[in-house]
Amino acid sequence: MCKIFYILTLVMSIVGGAAAQDSPITIVIHGGAGAMAPGRYTQEQEAAFKAKLTEALELGYSVLDGGGTALDAIQAAITTMEDSPLFNAGKGAVFTAEGKNELDASIMDGATKNAGAITGATRVKNPIKLARAVMENSKHVMFAGAGAESFAKSQGLELVPRSYFHTDERWNAYKRALKAEEAEKESALPHDYKYGTVGAVALDRNGNLAAGTSTGGMTLKRFGRVGDAPIIGAGTFADNASCAVSATGHGEYFIRLTIARDICAQVEYAGKTVADAANDVIHHRLQDLGGDGGVIVLGADGDYAMTFNTAGMFRGVKREGESVSVAIYEN
Ligand code: ASP
Repeated sequence: MCKIFYILTLVMSIVGGAAAQDSPITIVIHGGAGAMAPGRYTQEQEAAFKAKLTEALELGYSVLDGGGTALDAIQAAITTMEDSPLFNAGKGAVFTAEGKNELDASIMDGATKNAGAITGATRVKNPIKLARAVMENSKHVMFAGAGAESFAKSQGLELVPRSYFHTDERWNAYKRALKAEEAEKESALPHDYKYGTVGAVALDRNGNLAAGTSTGGMTLKRFGRVGDAPIIGAGTFADNASCAVSATGHGEYFIRLTIARDICAQVEYAGKTVADAANDVIHHRLQDLGGDGGVIVLGADGDYAMTFNTAGMFRGVKREGESVSVAIYEN
């Protein structure tokens, strides 16, 4: 009797395991949401954004296709976007009110619910790698400022001079924002504000989910402001029991609404699809509070959503058996 029970349990566990692995390996990325209405960019600029999104997706997908983990896949995709001046993360980070670059990032492993995050880093070339090192090589979840940088040094991560993060485009945007603020033309965000945070979520062959987000934050941020990107549950969340989320948008709203966790909680507790949960949180809860932005969401079954209440969101997906798909505007 005991033997039969054992065999039954074994068969059920194999079937259960196979079900997870049957979900198509998938990676979904974003490069920020915002006022990207058609006409904002030239055709060449659109092509450059799409080419970089495609490169990041293909690299991340190749990791999954080679049997790599969801964590390695999202790190590869995010690093590619951090190294590009096109996005507000790593090389293309926006400037603070003092004319500096302060970087935030976080990562979460859906299999273990381990997480790592950093905020206010100024010399780490790839903040997502530092967030991962915090997760894997420390007893803690989040390091800030100088401490985060000391830890980066101890981990042998690449540090760069602060000037590495300077790009003329972001500097000019900073100058314009400063002028508008001085002239008190803008009490809130400019109407054409573009969030450029990058993020990725992935599902690997073992059925494990992971999520990561990296950003320079928001132009003219001051007093050590911390946005949602490094806050687990706000800008990033992953749990194999529900879903993986990376967010972009007005961080203060995303923190107040614990957006990433709320989406996964709706999937886990209310049995919603990832699309329905994302729709409720972005188009109702966030919208009603007056916030804007978007999310990418990936479920353990490979179901995904890319949802935003702004004019556009740089985004893309590559799923097993399907070709790469990237987009900027609503349709
Ligand atoms: N969410 C980021 C922040 O508030 C900004 C962005 O999405 O670009 O720091």
